[in-house]
Amino acid sequence: MKILVMNAGSSSQKSCLYEVVDDRISEPLWEASIDWTRRQGFAEFEVKTATGAVLEEEIPMQSRTQAIAHLLETLWQGKTKVIDLPAEVAVVGHRVVHGGQDYRESVRVTAEVKAAIADLFVLAPVHNPANLEGIEAIESIFGKDIPQIAVFDTAFHSHIPDAAAIYPGLYAWVEKGIRRYGFHGISHQYCAQRAAQILDRDLKDLRLITCHLGNGCSLAAIRNGQSIDTTMGFTPLEGLMMGSRSGSIDPSILIHLMRQEGYTADRLDKELNKESGLLGISGVSADLRSVLAAMDTGNPRAKLALDIYIHRLRSCLGSMLVSLGGLDALVFTAGVGENSAIVRELACQSLEFLGLKLDLEKNKNRPVNLDIATPDSTIRILVIHTQEDLAIAQECWHHCSSKAD
Ligand code: AMP
Repeated sequence: MKILVMNAGSSSQKSCLYEVVDDRISEPLWEASIDWTRRQGFAEFEVKTATGAVLEEEIPMQSRTQAIAHLLETLWQGKTKVIDLPAEVAVVGHRVVHGGQDYRESVRVTAEVKAAIADLFVLAPVHNPANLEGIEAIESIFGKDIPQIAVFDTAFHSHIPDAAAIYPGLYAWVEKGIRRYGFHGISHQYCAQRAAQILDRDLKDLRLITCHLGNGCSLAAIRNGQSIDTTMGFTPLEGLMMGSRSGSIDPSILIHLMRQEGYTADRLDKELNKESGLLGISGVSADLRSVLAAMDTGNPRAKLALDIYIHRLRSCLGSMLVSLGGLDALVFTAGVGENSAIVRELACQSLEFLGLKLDLEKNKNRPVNLDIATPDSTIRILVIHTQEDLAIAQECWHHCSSKAD
């Protein structure tokens, strides 16, 4: 059985084709992406297959639907062809960023689910429209009958207790759906499951903090296999300092800027989401690698940016820790979490008082899916390569196999 996964970002579209063989999901047979950011007016396509075929091309900007159609044709045409006919794809899984309060697990896409994704455009104005366009593009290419599964990035956090999920503003806000939803749920859940496998423990017996540190950053406190607290909130802007997002700030700053400097909502949105964080403080880049390189040349703002990043990370770790009331394993994942030894080392230093001990050699040796704590550490420290697309494919397989039972 072949499973196609669609993962739409604000200005990118990634897609993978997996095959289930003997109840196991293979490495992707085909991986493709479209990037609309690199050259104005153009879409950049990259396709590669498990057998080593590669296609790279840049074509004039098209609508998302046209671009997706072009991307998917490379599945059955040309040098990256891996199937003979579109009908070989049995099911399509989509990462859908916002599932609101109603979608607590993945669901088969129906007209009602599509309407719900559209109703949530106001809460995820960039991603949910792209996700719905992806679903509709699949319908137009593969026909309306192909099973499509929506896997929500908010679902894993939907059991967070009200005390952690509700903002202490007006109760009327709660009635309007203004509450903490949390994001990166697919990644946090995948890492929790993988952590239990690596530790050879039952997930239900583990207290975990998963640190998804990428361009966007969030932590999740996981107990009994469920997220009980997380750092992102109503939107992905809350919580940690990120590449270009500020994370949590005093809301009065916004009131001050509106009153004193006539800021509009659009300007606040742009500055907080696109011009803050590592980029805003360092003035160098949203990419931690460039910030670290600038720091090495003595750039004081780059140093300040890293110091704030670490301070915020440590204080949010403290918050997750007390929500859990203990910790069995600390998990690092995503671009920074998987690759930056210095961020892991500085984060771990703040937990040494608990008996957590990082093996500095293992930490520096590019660990992947490994425990990097010393044998006598009271808390395990894991680096896990997050695989959201695989997790989506697993959800699709779960839906198809449970239907067949
Ligand atoms: P992601 O959103 O998970 O794709 O992560 C992307 C981010 O990971 C980039 O913006 C970089 O800041 C960060 N990153 C990737 N590799 C490294 C590295 N070797 N050291 C520090 N940061 C890295």
